[in-house]
Amino acid sequence: MVVVMEERATEAQIEHVVARLVEMGMDVHRSTGITRTVLGAVGQGHADKGLIELLDGVHEVVRISEPYKLASRTFKPEATVITVGDIRIGGDEVIVMAGPCSAETEQQVRTTAAAVRRAGAKIFRGGAFKPRSSPYSFQGLGEAGLVLLRDAARAENMALVSEVMDVSQIELIDRYCDIFQVGARNMQNFTLLRELGHARKPVLLKRGISATIEEWLLSAEYVLSGGNTGVILCERGIRTFETATRNTFDVSAIPVVQKLSHLPVVADPSHGAGRRDMVTPMARAAVAAGADGLIIEVHCDPDRALSDGAQSMFPAQFDRLMAELRIIAPAIGRSICLETVARRGWGQ
Ligand code: PEP
Ligand code: MN
Repeated sequence: MVVVMEERATEAQIEHVVARLVEMGMDVHRSTGITRTVLGAVGQGHADKGLIELLDGVHEVVRISEPYKLASRTFKPEATVITVGDIRIGGDEVIVMAGPCSAETEQQVRTTAAAVRRAGAKIFRGGAFKPRSSPYSFQGLGEAGLVLLRDAARAENMALVSEVMDVSQIELIDRYCDIFQVGARNMQNFTLLRELGHARKPVLLKRGISATIEEWLLSAEYVLSGGNTGVILCERGIRTFETATRNTFDVSAIPVVQKLSHLPVVADPSHGAGRRDMVTPMARAAVAAGADGLIIEVHCDPDRALSDGAQSMFPAQFDRLMAELRIIAPAIGRSICLETVARRGWGQ
């Protein structure tokens, strides 16, 4: 932290600031210029920027290191690769996760899983516990939904990601899924994040609806500081003044996060756009921007889905998107699942 004193700061004020910084555990290096004194504070302590700013004689306080440590590239310069079975998230390959918003019926889960697998998705997504804005909307099937999702993932040889909404659900969801999803609404559920810090499975951490990138990385820090190194960040759109789309999909968050953090970042263009006709262009953009993966909602009959139908793709649309991504990914030096429709006998 650098503290720039006012031109007219008195010696007593400067000494008081130095004393407060030392009290906060910092080593202080003082440099006296012609007009101002500048204090450089370094060390293991925690200097509270807001408190220092309030002290008499202080002109400006500039933080020079990020408030998160374990999540930052300064701490770990090389990219983190998270392994789930033989799937590597954060490596050269763009990993696609796809499936319905919610598990509804056995037929719906099975049909959708088979379709997304055929198209090249490696991880099956689906919710059994749903964070819905209205308490009257479909809330998910609970454990029965997890059973359907796991059976379908197993049948298609896919890994499974599913949302955990509360600490009390961790043990149950752990029995069925390979990756815990923390939803946008829970990004700052610090009790949940701390508990997932002790889990042995990766956490897909969605960006909060109105979270800054710094807040998002601080939430990742909660999980990392508990000892769980498997955090996958997920940009899913943020709330802005724009109402044309459900959220504003922040593509620039992808390169920003990759600069600040070593953690893999995936994109959720489904919740970002909120309309299935806009998912394809946003997914293309995310891969072109360098996303390590995508998570996309696909439903075998999206017009009758119990949640997020409007943004859920038809299997054929998803299939087409995957074909396009097979052109985009190599153009920026990435690979993507080449398992094509023809190879797996689609429609035969
Ligand atoms: C979901 O993935 O279905 C979901 C509820 O996502 P989010 O938390 O991003 O809204
Ligand atoms: Mn959804």
